[in-house]
Amino acid sequence: MARYEELKGKRVMITGAASGIGLATARRFAAEGAKVFIVDYNKKALEATQKEHPEFAGFSAADVSDEENVKAAFAEMDRLLGGIDVLISNAGISIRSDALNIPYAQWKKVMDINLGGMFLCAKEAGRRMKAQGGGVILMTASSNGTEGHRWYADYNASKAGVILLTKTLALELAPVVRVNCVCPGYVLTPMQRAEYTDEMLAKVNEGIPMKRHAAPEEIGALYAFLASDDARYITGADIRIDGGETAGLYS
Ligand code: NAD
Repeated sequence: MARYEELKGKRVMITGAASGIGLATARRFAAEGAKVFIVDYNKKALEATQKEHPEFAGFSAADVSDEENVKAAFAEMDRLLGGIDVLISNAGISIRSDALNIPYAQWKKVMDINLGGMFLCAKEAGRRMKAQGGGVILMTASSNGTEGHRWYADYNASKAGVILLTKTLALELAPVVRVNCVCPGYVLTPMQRAEYTDEMLAKVNEGIPMKRHAAPEEIGALYAFLASDDARYITGADIRIDGGETAGLYS
């Protein structure tokens, strides 16, 4: 399913790549001929993923919210591939809770991973890309970062932060590095499966104009486009891919 000739040989780091959107995106970039370097803090799942995909160029077990871990992951990628051309910063967590009962420790953990992790990875990638004169930074935000959604106050705030981090970095790194984020709506991944019963999923689908969840591969396809030359004038954008979920007040 190779579509973008220019992605061939590109050095691409994808975080949260042992599952869901990250894994589907890693597969898509590998199919495009990119050198895919996968990162995840679930070491067992990461090693199993690498074993299943010998076409991936390398991996590092790292917690994106730990600065030393992130530095080590980039150093390993430098060692193996000599640098980075595309960062897809995607690792994230969500914990369903009503706002008034979110323990502060949970709030901080969600912020550290979902927003702090994006900052730490973008910092390492941005420095390298600026020095080499080009690159693309992409992040997974969420439709939860664009409108209020019940039961995910910490998650929503972290994803809204990712959108503004994206825009600020885009301003500071233009015209050398493009920086964009994607805002998926409901995507059928293990994260979603863990928190929604079949009944809940059916009810959610009813409310989505497209009447279904996205497949992780559909987010991977958007990432491939955003990393390609066809997206060369797109920077600072938060791109919704939500089946119309946030298109209108009563969509
Ligand atoms: P997932 O749980 O299937 O995959 C997430 C992966 O990230 C897992 O392999 C996990 O081990 C890894 N991870 C989590 N915290 C990490 C950390 N601190 N360091 C390194 N790796 C870590 O989830 P998914 O649905 O594929 O979600 C991927 C991204 O997409 C997340 O940022 C999520 O918030 C976002 N998102 C998901 C949906 C959805 O409906 N599934 C919607 C919008 C946005």
